[in-house]
Amino acid sequence: SEPTPTFSAGLMLPLNIDQGRYLTSVMRKGTGDKVSVFNGREGEWTAEIAEAGKKQVVLRLLEQTREQPQAQGPVLAVALIKRSPLEYIIEKATELGASRIQLLMTRRTQSDHVKLERLKIIAQEAAEQTERLDVPEILSPVKLEAFLAAPDVEVIVFGDEDSTHEGDERRTMPLLEVLSTLTSKRTAILIGPEGGFDDHERQTLRAMENVHPVNLGPRILRADTAAISALTLYQAALGD
Ligand code: SAM
Repeated sequence: SEPTPTFSAGLMLPLNIDQGRYLTSVMRKGTGDKVSVFNGREGEWTAEIAEAGKKQVVLRLLEQTREQPQAQGPVLAVALIKRSPLEYIIEKATELGASRIQLLMTRRTQSDHVKLERLKIIAQEAAEQTERLDVPEILSPVKLEAFLAAPDVEVIVFGDEDSTHEGDERRTMPLLEVLSTLTSKRTAILIGPEGGFDDHERQTLRAMENVHPVNLGPRILRADTAAISALTLYQAALGD
């Protein structure tokens, strides 16, 4: 979507073609009708439809009805997977309160091709549907190692095997226990690709103090199921 100008009462806001059509054809709105508007930065506003032409729909902003909340939820760091389950993850992670979605390149990632703009639209539509005022940022893929090197982030890695290995002191813990030990405000939920993390990545993850392994049970879940389950459990535990 186009960046919108700073909101203020009286601002005239032309909609893009899809938004205009949605309002007039799907929602059957016309001149004078009231709608809610948000741009992800300046809370929620009411607006009235000032012009409802076939080619252009223009809103006039009236007043702010909700303040912009602070983004609270966890970061979802997810390896690039096939288009359809990835899109599903973006939609559901937005509904479930992820504050940001970081795409990752891992050693078993099959392709680095991703249509970021399409993913952003999916996030925006899911945010509208769920009435959250902030749209999670979708960040283009970075290598797993680069993501892990970011300072001040606690990473909960969801692995599909018990990460207890000989000589490894740190055992897989229940999520609730992990959450109670976290010190940083920035928590990331890390989900691997279809083929999982390879041995080298598992070793790297196990060696890091800020990485906390959690298991979602004895069955191997698809990455989309794992991402949604992890976010749901986080949400249920912390209510963010
Ligand atoms: N065969 C792969 C492997 O050996 O790792 C399976 C990968 S699984 C389809 C995709 C991702 O979902 C995993 O990398 C992991 O992050 C997550 N996942 C799947 N099942 C899980 C489980 N039971 N507990 C925690 N995470 C799981």
